[in-house]
Amino acid sequence: TNDISPHRQQNTYMATTDTNKSKVVKEIERIAANRVQRRVRHEERRQKLSEVDHSIPAWEFHAMITEYRQQLEIKPLTINDPQKDLKICVCIRKRPITKKELNKKDIDVLTIPNKDHVIVHLPKVKVDLTKYIDNQKFRFDYTFRESCNNDIVYHFTAKPLVQLLFLGYSPMVFAYGQTGAGKTFTMGGDLSQRDVDFSKGIYALTANDIFIHLNKPPNKGQYNVYCTFFEIYCTKVFDLFNEKKRLRVLEDHKNLVQVVGKKEEHVETVDQVMALIRRGMSVRTSGTTSANEHSSRSHAIFQMTLKKKTANKEYGKISLIDLAGSERGRDTQTTDKITLMEGAQINKSLLTLKECIRSLGRNAEHIPFRGSTLTKVLRDSFIGEKSKVCMIAMISPGSSDVEHTLNTLRYADRVKELNVDELMQR
Ligand code: ADP
Ligand code: MG
Repeated sequence: TNDISPHRQQNTYMATTDTNKSKVVKEIERIAANRVQRRVRHEERRQKLSEVDHSIPAWEFHAMITEYRQQLEIKPLTINDPQKDLKICVCIRKRPITKKELNKKDIDVLTIPNKDHVIVHLPKVKVDLTKYIDNQKFRFDYTFRESCNNDIVYHFTAKPLVQLLFLGYSPMVFAYGQTGAGKTFTMGGDLSQRDVDFSKGIYALTANDIFIHLNKPPNKGQYNVYCTFFEIYCTKVFDLFNEKKRLRVLEDHKNLVQVVGKKEEHVETVDQVMALIRRGMSVRTSGTTSANEHSSRSHAIFQMTLKKKTANKEYGKISLIDLAGSERGRDTQTTDKITLMEGAQINKSLLTLKECIRSLGRNAEHIPFRGSTLTKVLRDSFIGEKSKVCMIAMISPGSSDVEHTLNTLRYADRVKELNVDELMQR
């Protein structure tokens, strides 16, 4: 019985490759279909948002949210939860509602029920005029509720990146969000106090950890540490360590981008770093009427660089970035030329940033860093194997801010999306 003829064998063989191939094709189709579905969901959410009913009285709306919350099981993130090892980490931080907001009859419309979800409660009215809340859920790598302090935020965001500095990495941490949502509070510490305590911000906590690692073997005596602090307003760069001196961004023939002439401060203790941060932050806000007015339109970049004493060239570098207010890029009410131009620049830089992070997550050959000064200046940290990004998107809890909050969540969601694709490709 001569069953298996060469011809037949070949057929069998063909059939197997065929199924293999179709597996891949199916997988690609599935990813594509998921993407389409996501777009549809996004569009639905957008549509729904435009139906938000602002006429529902605050107390009624508040009662509905309270009732909804009562049936939730609240299990917040704690310091004992495991840290995830992610190339791109996207998390959300909700700040507490303020007395001022409550006095204005604003209500808290956000709930963070557990370590990775956030729920936005939107007031709606049905065709038959019944009022209800539409609860929109989002998921991220971590979500920090209003009771979380800077220590816990630091523990899950910048802390895991600090040890990588000593392995030659160039990680970046971004604070994103609407003005007043808590970016500077998270990065620098509480500026609202007269005697500002910088020791509680991510800048200081990072510096502290760097020196702890630096003084442990095998690192002891091996490195020098330098700080730089500058700000980007529109396409211009200003040195916060040098009275806002204008700095030039140059690109050499090897595509290496350099901020020329920026002041690099050699530091040996946490106290020195703190003094520098204090100086830089006061330079940043000087000459303007209020702290937020100016800082909401510029990105501030604080960097700590490790150089090997033997080579005196950059080994590892961590960049901590307090971004311009995300609402600025969307301000369409104004007709003021300067404000329009600022808004366009901010919009462009935040969109480019998102695309760069997405490309990084996809391990793309090409990173579109040329699209903005912000990403140009950070180019080196986006290139190569040793890049890591953490984005902390800050959100304000008030119902009057809910549209900005949804915009922030959508932006963060778009950055995060690639983590899903990444998993599928494995
Ligand atoms: P941004 O830098 O995003 O414009 P800020 O960091 O200046 O916002 O925060 C706005 C206000 O809210 C400040 O008065 C700040 O002290 C307060 N705030 C922000 N986040 C928190 C928080 N997690 N807990 C308590 N107060 C906060
Ligand atoms: Mg700020």
